[in-house]
Amino acid sequence: MKKAVYPGSFDPITYGHIDIIQRMQPIFDEVIVLVSTSPQKKYLFTAKERQDMIQESLKNACPGISVDTHDGLTVEYVRAHGASVIVRGLRAVVDFEYEMVMANMNKKLAQEIETMIVFAKPEYYYISSNTIKEVTRYGADVTSLVPPPVIIALKEKNLILNKNKIF
Ligand code: ADP
Repeated sequence: MKKAVYPGSFDPITYGHIDIIQRMQPIFDEVIVLVSTSPQKKYLFTAKERQDMIQESLKNACPGISVDTHDGLTVEYVRAHGASVIVRGLRAVVDFEYEMVMANMNKKLAQEIETMIVFAKPEYYYISSNTIKEVTRYGADVTSLVPPPVIIALKEKNLILNKNKIF
């Protein structure tokens, strides 16, 4: 049974992430989306909020995907869950160095685990969770970039202001 883990911050999940998940689903018997938490990063959403948003967003788009949270080494999670592949997405050259360093570090820590890099689709390569949060704060419409549960969650965080709050 070929199991893959797709780790990330997913703060919040975007259609770029979902595209990677959908493309990986037919390749593996099981794909686990892993919401990671790093002490060096600041998140808008808690790990539980991010997990719930992903579960809700994937319910129709790709049923059968499990979503978990973890705050330690990714390779430890991958090992403990009997997976052999870490999936990561690559958008532009700026992603490359970070992904290469992480892949090599993970290889050093766990020889038996491979990192698989998947190129973002051209229509999604410019979408990042940070950009979503940034443009949303200035009132941009992101409904074509993130799934409906994320729009609801952004509204709950007051990042998308209700009309009656603006005026
Ligand atoms: P992290 O903080 O671990 O980079 P992210 O949620 O930002 O978490 O990204 C998780 C993974 O998904 C990374 O490998 C990233 O390059 C990839 N990714 C993010 N946005 C996109 C996108 N629009 N298209 C394809 N891959 C993406």
